[in-house]
Amino acid sequence: MFENTAAYQVTIGLEVHAQLNTKSKLFCSCPTDFGASPNSQTCPTCLGLPGALPVLNKKAVEAAVKLGLATHCKIAERSNFARKNYFYPDLPKGYQITQFENPVCLSGYLEIENGEELKKISIERIHLEEDAGKSIHNEPFVPENETLIDFNRCGIPLLEIVTAPQLTDPKEAVRFVQNLQQLLRYLQISDANLEQGSLRCDANISVRRKSEARLSAKTEIKNLNSLKSLSRALDYEIKRQKQMLSSHETLFSATVLWNEKAQKTEIMRDKEMARDYRYFPEPDLLELKITRDWIEEIQAGMPELPGQKLSRFCHQYRLSRPVAEILTQTPDRANLFEFLAKEIDDPDLTSKWMTQEFIRYENLADWLTNVRWKKDVISILTMLKNKKISWRMAKDIFGQMVQSNKPLDQIIEADQIFGISDEKILREIINKIIDENQDIVSRYRSGEEQLFHYFIGQIMKKTKGRADPALANKLLRSILNSR
Ligand code: ZN
Ligand code: MN
Repeated sequence: MFENTAAYQVTIGLEVHAQLNTKSKLFCSCPTDFGASPNSQTCPTCLGLPGALPVLNKKAVEAAVKLGLATHCKIAERSNFARKNYFYPDLPKGYQITQFENPVCLSGYLEIENGEELKKISIERIHLEEDAGKSIHNEPFVPENETLIDFNRCGIPLLEIVTAPQLTDPKEAVRFVQNLQQLLRYLQISDANLEQGSLRCDANISVRRKSEARLSAKTEIKNLNSLKSLSRALDYEIKRQKQMLSSHETLFSATVLWNEKAQKTEIMRDKEMARDYRYFPEPDLLELKITRDWIEEIQAGMPELPGQKLSRFCHQYRLSRPVAEILTQTPDRANLFEFLAKEIDDPDLTSKWMTQEFIRYENLADWLTNVRWKKDVISILTMLKNKKISWRMAKDIFGQMVQSNKPLDQIIEADQIFGISDEKILREIINKIIDENQDIVSRYRSGEEQLFHYFIGQIMKKTKGRADPALANKLLRSILNSR
């Protein structure tokens, strides 16, 4: 017999690492360009050579303060760096410089959508730390049973964001990561890409009987490099822990890896044997002071945030919330919408076009910055607005522009795509449709006026969407009412 699932309480907390997009590393001036040849972006400091001293990157501190302000955290006017000691081949110093006792940001929150309501998820802390290098095995160029190390990533700045254990199901966890990702992109401080590793997510999960007040043992899941993995791994752990509880087995704390291929978690090491990191204050760095003035300066330079933009879009452009949510998903998309809506002076048409047509091609080209594309799109939307072309034609033209990568004037020329605005041709087509649909004509004439749209549909079908909509409308009405 299965126990009632409502008898269980699921508790999830997240630890997210976001790689900052600063030009140089956290404690040295080495570049951070992605894809550079291995070990070409290193220096004595990030290689941990004796005598090299760290110098803190101001931009990284600014990024931490920005995220802290955007998540309603208290910004510490004085914070410290610490050494987290452990041995690993990709960590040449033998310790990671991180923050332990006094992180830059404390006690904030991020809201997630929970049905109609917003739920506040507490953020316990956000701290700055340096990334480690990368061990490379299982690549064709690596000899069997050997490991190569690339130190380029060593010292790249990270923000670690730690939530309170307040998420109650995998959907909420995914929502949280999505909202955080959106925020990091709006603030332009990280690419926040899970698949590429600029956002890394670990999840703590524990399941207990509701009758049991005490939190049971928790599992820490690592290696979640997509939202899909995050939700699947959590689903898997919930099921596994419930099964163990219902068969009265003892749950124990463990660190596990999500195996995407096998679709299961695998134990890494016992939590009881967790390393003692022997944290102690970093003696080579001064206390970090963030003055009120500096915080105010950063605050003044903050961009409009996703939530603010969303409610402004709803009010200013009279958009429904779901439509505004789609349009404000990324700052680039939101900017394009506002630009086009203003240019063609029709937010309603622009929002409809962006959500129905634009989005399916969004990832195929650099529309957002390409001036020629923008001009062509304005032309298409203006023709659509002035009823020179139908929706279907606009869609066709736009599709051809994307697929052929040709400018608008070439497409129009090659395809004679312009509408049929010849009255004689349209009359013939309409008369033919009326002859073929006598029964519907009599129903229309006896009062079923909505059937008018049926005829319009037929005209568009016969002309492959090329009939001038205004003219077709006018002719159809006069013909239907005269005969
Ligand atoms: Zn360096
Ligand atoms: Mn960390």
